[in-house]
Amino acid sequence: MSVPLTSPNIIIALDGPAGSGKSTTARRVAEALGYVYIDTGAMYRAITLAALREERSITNSDLLPIVKEYQLQLTISPDGQRTILGREDVTEEIRSPEVTKLVSAVSALPSVREAMSKRQREMGKNGGVVMDGRDIGTVVFPEAELKIFLIASLEERAKRRLAELKDSSVSLEEMCKQISERDKQDTERLVSPLRKADDAVEIDTSALSIDAQTERILALARERIAAKRG
Ligand code: C5P
Repeated sequence: MSVPLTSPNIIIALDGPAGSGKSTTARRVAEALGYVYIDTGAMYRAITLAALREERSITNSDLLPIVKEYQLQLTISPDGQRTILGREDVTEEIRSPEVTKLVSAVSALPSVREAMSKRQREMGKNGGVVMDGRDIGTVVFPEAELKIFLIASLEERAKRRLAELKDSSVSLEEMCKQISERDKQDTERLVSPLRKADDAVEIDTSALSIDAQTERILALARERIAAKRG
């Protein structure tokens, strides 16, 4: 019996700043390998949405009950990952400008990080996952077989976000400002800041197509899978 090309299952950690191409690439890589794609940013966004709805102040003690009480689920549907908060599908709402503005402050809180990292470890422990975020290769799965750190110029990242938003009222300059503010908060926070793991492969996606990024990561993944097979 032939061994499937993707066996055994490995963990692929994909980190990088906003707009670096993580989610699209991670989804494609997961599809090609028959792996599960997990967008960890959606988890932080869902907690932020809950905090906004309950008008909580962004402190550890105020958000702890939310983290504990809210049932947060990530489900897979034919059109990708859905984020469910309680019984409500909040997949679209967590992308709102209000959530995006506040999410880095919420994500900096130790109580929030601890709970989310624990959930993420549980979700990925059997391998066969492509997990994207900010601290997957450094904190959540420092033992991941493949770690990728995606980067791209600020202008390119802002252009991509604008194309996604389809909102012509936001200028390129404004989007650059918003993204660099989020970069600053994500890289300067005390707990699990955004940084490249020492053994991560850095890929600059500024001038790369999605296909090219996906192919590069897939080639590395196949190498690591073969190495694990021994
Ligand atoms: O990936 P996305 O842009 O949706 O992430 C939203 C925010 O969630 C990030 O700016 C960051 O503050 C936080 N985040 C995090 N750790 C992760 C994933 C996301 O702190 N693993």
